[in-house]
Amino acid sequence: MIRLPPFRYLAPRSLEEAVAMKAEYGREAMYVAGGTDLFPNMKRRQFEPMVLIGLRGLKELRGISNGRGLTIGAGTTLSEVANHSQVRAQYPSLARAAGLVSSPPLRNMGTIGGNLCVDTRCTYYNQSHAWRKALGFCMKKDGNVCWVALSSPECLAVSSSDCAPVAISLGAQVRLVGPQGERMIRADALYRNDGMQYLKTWPDEVLVSIHLPPMQGWRTSYLKLRRRGSIDFPILGVAVALRSEEDGTCTDARLVLGAVASQPVSVPEAAALLVGHRITPELVNEAAELAARQAKPLDNTDMGLSFRKKMARVYVARALAQAAGC
Ligand SMILES: Cc1cc2nc3c(=O)[nH]c(=O)nc-3n(C[C@H](O)[C@H](O)[C@H](O)COP(=O)(O)OP(=O)(O)OC[C@H]3O[C@@H](n4cnc5c(N)ncnc54)[C@H](O)[C@@H]3O)c2cc1C
Repeated sequence: MIRLPPFRYLAPRSLEEAVAMKAEYGREAMYVAGGTDLFPNMKRRQFEPMVLIGLRGLKELRGISNGRGLTIGAGTTLSEVANHSQVRAQYPSLARAAGLVSSPPLRNMGTIGGNLCVDTRCTYYNQSHAWRKALGFCMKKDGNVCWVALSSPECLAVSSSDCAPVAISLGAQVRLVGPQGERMIRADALYRNDGMQYLKTWPDEVLVSIHLPPMQGWRTSYLKLRRRGSIDFPILGVAVALRSEEDGTCTDARLVLGAVASQPVSVPEAAALLVGHRITPELVNEAAELAARQAKPLDNTDMGLSFRKKMARVYVARALAQAAGC
């Protein structure tokens, strides 16, 4: 059995207290929500925080509420998101993505905030400490080389969140609170294409909530590729949102790929092909061809590289056809 390293657990009773605790301990501390990703990573010594600041007791992070659109507290579990009637009716791609994460026990513990902040993954990193040590570690933890591409100055670990590409395709915003105050940013501005520093959050910030705009007139879909139908992380995620006139003419389109880089990748060129037209199977194939060219998967996740590249075209076509109903 692999054991957790020793750490101190702090249980703040308010958001303010949580942020103050994090500011006090700085890099020695980490936030923990459901712990479904962080605890296994700590067991493998990918993270060794002295202090964990638990977010579960914070009421500011809980629940789903109406306003202009829907606000989802970052501490809402993936099961709650997947089963919420309004999320299912108005944002079906998000309900689907949340419901496809891992397995039921982990969805009951894991939160949507933790999912948006989840660590990037790589074949050379998501291994036991002994495995990584035998290899000489990698630049993401304890080493200084990227084994995926030895000449790469940057870590190429892959963004593997199911909900992140969907949040971007829905035009979501996220509310962040830290020692410097609070701010709202677009979900796509949360990420950078760097496997180590993959979040653009400021030091000690907590992700408090996700704000979804009203989506009248839009249809959305999410498809996930993985080896098994459960448990596995995505090796490709395709999030689509299409807005159409009553006569079927597409007036806006968004297409975002997950698990093909260190951040979710928007493909506006492919989406733009659809705008101004009634979507047909031929148009779907054209857009899928273009989108697949932007998907440059690396040899550091499950399944073969050329298979994943081919599947990018197939999955984009299927996700577009599903959203367009053609
Ligand atoms: C076997 C297995 C399979 C999995 N399969 C999938 C999968 O298919 N798809 C997928 O997307 N994920 C998968 N996961 C990862 C994980 O379960 C989910 O991403 C889950 O949503 C993480 O949420 P959490 O609340 O448990 O996060 P935690 O583990 O608590 O935290 C994850 C990270 O986010 C940070 N964090 C958490 N909440 C906040 C916040 N509010 N503000 C700032 N930082 C925060 C933590 O500091 C940590 O760095 C899997 C994990 C396991 C162990």
